[in-house]
Amino acid sequence: MIAVRNLDKYYGRFHVLRSCTLDVADGEVVVICGPSGSGKSTLIKCMNALETFDGGEIVIDGVSVGDPACNLPKLRSKVGMVFQQFELFPHLDVEQNIMLAQRRVLGRSLKEARDRSRQLLERVGLAAHALKYPSALSGGQQQRVAIARGLAMDPKVMLFDEPTSSLDPEMIGEVLDVMIQLARDGMTMVCVTHEMGFARHVASSVVFMDEGRILEQADPATFFDHTANERARRFLDNVL
Ligand code: ATP
Ligand code: MG
Repeated sequence: MIAVRNLDKYYGRFHVLRSCTLDVADGEVVVICGPSGSGKSTLIKCMNALETFDGGEIVIDGVSVGDPACNLPKLRSKVGMVFQQFELFPHLDVEQNIMLAQRRVLGRSLKEARDRSRQLLERVGLAAHALKYPSALSGGQQQRVAIARGLAMDPKVMLFDEPTSSLDPEMIGEVLDVMIQLARDGMTMVCVTHEMGFARHVASSVVFMDEGRILEQADPATFFDHTANERARRFLDNVL
């Protein structure tokens, strides 16, 4: 579903991604972890063209990202993204947040978009909150709306960049539960997260990054219990 090949990116003269190669098969959940500044956010932003890159290739569901012929709205409708800071539209209610891109990008009718929104709000446990504004919701609720908004495009892949990092501890579980359900339903997911319980129990594989390089991609049991990578071991000793 996703093939990242020898990806290189610079911010000015700073070499932020160094020949990153990564595969995500259909239905897999790949967790990316690594120290702050290692390039995790940059890597996943490249996957839906929120960042450009300087070398290598990303192919998602047959579409070459970064190719001048790549249709951006079409790519982004295939690749949903959820950020640490929710990024909901503050001036739209929950339902309108979920309907907007369905209407503008997919051209769905009002009724279709509303029906899909309601269905997704049900799925993330927020059916009763459709007409509230984001500011009236808790962080965990806002993040579940953001996930519903991503799913409304019927994406092939969902990207998550530290979706629980700005939440109070009691709200982390409700967001992880939605992500776990999504994984069980077979969604292809790439998640930057420091939730190592999620990584161990839900991930198909774990990727460890440091200083712009992918140092390891392994199944969770191998990664957590037997990593041979000394840098990854030190990282795990600090977060576990
Ligand atoms: P964190 O865990 O703190 O979110 P990260 O692994 O997601 O870190 P990135 O945000 O991808 O790291 O950043 C990688 C490096 O690139 C960092 O050194 C950062 O300072 C630098 N960087 C990120 N965005 C920019 C930018 N727009 N311009 C210049 N440098 C940047
Ligand atoms: Mg980041």
